[in-house]
Amino acid sequence: MAAHTIGELRRAEYRVQPIKAELRRNLIRKLQAGERLFPGIVGYEDSVIPQLENALLAGQDIVLLGERGQAKSRLVRSLTSLLDEAVPAIAGCEINDNPYAPICRRCRDLVAERGDETPIAWLGAEDRYGEKLATPDTSIADLIGEVDPIRVAEGRYLSDELVIHYGLVPRTNRGIFAINELPDLAERIQVGLLNIIEERDVQIRGFRIRLPLDVFVVATANPEDYTNRGRIITPLKDRFGAQVRTHYPRSVDDEIAIAEQERVVFDDMPVPVHIPQHMKEIAVEITHLARRHPQINQRSGVSVRVTTANYESLTSSALRRALITGEKEAVVRISDLAAVTPSTAGKVELDTWDGTEDDQVLDKVVRSACSNVFRRHFSAQELADLVQRFDQGAFTVEVGPLMTTESFRQALDELPGLDRARQKLDEPDTPASTVAVLEFLLEGLHLGKRLNKTALEGTAVYGA
Ligand SMILES: [Zn+2]
Repeated sequence: MAAHTIGELRRAEYRVQPIKAELRRNLIRKLQAGERLFPGIVGYEDSVIPQLENALLAGQDIVLLGERGQAKSRLVRSLTSLLDEAVPAIAGCEINDNPYAPICRRCRDLVAERGDETPIAWLGAEDRYGEKLATPDTSIADLIGEVDPIRVAEGRYLSDELVIHYGLVPRTNRGIFAINELPDLAERIQVGLLNIIEERDVQIRGFRIRLPLDVFVVATANPEDYTNRGRIITPLKDRFGAQVRTHYPRSVDDEIAIAEQERVVFDDMPVPVHIPQHMKEIAVEITHLARRHPQINQRSGVSVRVTTANYESLTSSALRRALITGEKEAVVRISDLAAVTPSTAGKVELDTWDGTEDDQVLDKVVRSACSNVFRRHFSAQELADLVQRFDQGAFTVEVGPLMTTESFRQALDELPGLDRARQKLDEPDTPASTVAVLEFLLEGLHLGKRLNKTALEGTAVYGA
């Protein structure tokens, strides 16, 4: 349908629906067709998504409560997939006026003058989505509007609402307005926001304007901020029909799936890098331990982005080794874990007394993660023959991020049980993968107090 005027639209019997009815209609159609509503969102199938769908079916505005890195923004943005591909609005309108019932002064005048000949434009889904990160500086002008001094200077009559420059909420009329970190809005601005979405009229610098907007509002907030007394005015809280709590991935597999999906992948990898499953589990375990750590600030949370960034750092460390040594096979191993400190440190807030302890906290988290994952796969008993080989005297293995596969030759030849362990971990039968298994065993046995580890300059030596 390509109507160009209000008259053509009328003759085509086009019906304009309120935004919530439109979202609901498209949701119903997708649910009936068995379509996936939030592609790329992992781990919310039985928790967050049903609640969101119920709220949308009920026509409720939504506030998503969750700590950082719980895909809140992505959920909000994917709501645009529930908008019609295109809807008609009066052409040139700043607030997407409904062709049959314009609310802005300009369009009311235009329709009065031109009637069915009034031109219309078709708006795509992306044109009907507005997003704002709330800060203490966010103003009424940003959200609602401001008297435009240029228009006043042009000699417009001051009592004329044509002098208003509209803010983001009116510009999202007949669409989705998303406000992130809602509690960061000053109380005065919250009142303004409430007035425009609930009372449907606004005061701007003494101009009182009736603006019956049709907006679907979705907000996000940190749960602690949102429930803190005084951070959100009660009537605004009441406006949200549904409060949906997001969460971190509940299973290791979900978190691995998210990291694999989100990590940056370059298509010009000079050497392919393999991340063994046990190293993926360690990366996830680091994040999970950080989420329970008493010295890590849990109010803001530990994002899935920590896991993703650590994945990327581990990959890079293995690639760097291959580039420097000239090896053709790059497999992530325990020695590469030194690379996760920089990618973790900036993303967690430590509650230590002085900064020098920070690295120690992270170091301990990494060691605990290795130990936990090791114990999930192996008992010390099943590696008794390997430990015995060390005990037989003078056997040591030196490890380090820049050591080549070839430098492990003696260990690969002489230590018993490596192939068995490699098969158990389901790793490919290649020298570099076997070295990765070897390092995992050595570190696990060391953390279980079966082997000693002596740190040297940039390397370490395991021995009896
Ligand atoms: Zn208009």
